[in-house]
Amino acid sequence: MTKYKRIVLKVSGEALAGKEGFGIKPPVIGDIAKEIKQVHDLGVQIAIVCGGGNIWRGETGAEMGMERAQADYMGMLATVMNGLALQDSLENLGVPTRVQTSIEMRQIAEPYIRRKAVRHLEKGRVVIFAGGTGNPYFSTDTTAALRAAEIGADVILMAKNGVDGVYSDDPNKDANAVKFSELTHLDIISKGLHVMDATASTLSMDNNIPLVVFNMNEPDNIKKVVEGENIGTTIKG
Ligand code: UDP
Repeated sequence: MTKYKRIVLKVSGEALAGKEGFGIKPPVIGDIAKEIKQVHDLGVQIAIVCGGGNIWRGETGAEMGMERAQADYMGMLATVMNGLALQDSLENLGVPTRVQTSIEMRQIAEPYIRRKAVRHLEKGRVVIFAGGTGNPYFSTDTTAALRAAEIGADVILMAKNGVDGVYSDDPNKDANAVKFSELTHLDIISKGLHVMDATASTLSMDNNIPLVVFNMNEPDNIKKVVEGENIGTTIKG
């Protein structure tokens, strides 16, 4: 028996880029797909929200003088590229998938339809939500919180690159930083901890969706979290 039956896994763009931190690295995505397959094999219903920061971030474009909304739409397109790459890797392993985009692009993916997404999950297909929320000024963390609420997910798994949870300070810079094993969403907001942005935290809090922050670079970690092993930081309440 797994602890969670329906999960939203947030995979940041960075995680798909490997060490260089930029672009799409199919072998790296292949490794992530293997981890996801392990959990799929346990019968867990999996929805994935991909980020896009490995290709483009709206904020960066705005800092360079672009109109923010325009730059954000480019970011949303970046998440679609990542979603398709992830789909390719998962299907190579024989895991059935569907990509749903929040902005219609019917030739390459289904449009996001909540009831259809739930049906896919019930049929054992991994659903990849791409395109963010479809709105500028939002993030894919907020997308994860929104979709989790919409599909009634038990938890959001926030897969991090090399960091194994939430710390009082940046553990790479401060040797005295302590790791929290449990926090509330309000702690995240009031202490200004860098887990997800405030919009995403508020949405998760209002809808009572727990979040587990963990290191995805350790093998079997997604499985461990799903099976209820106490790794990383759990945020709830
Ligand atoms: N984005 C957006 N609306 C959304 C989700 C994403 O405008 O609902 C844009 C935004 O510009 C963001 C980019 O897509 O910088 C990539 O998403 P994000 O930064 O969340 O990706 P991650 O940091 O997880 O790789």
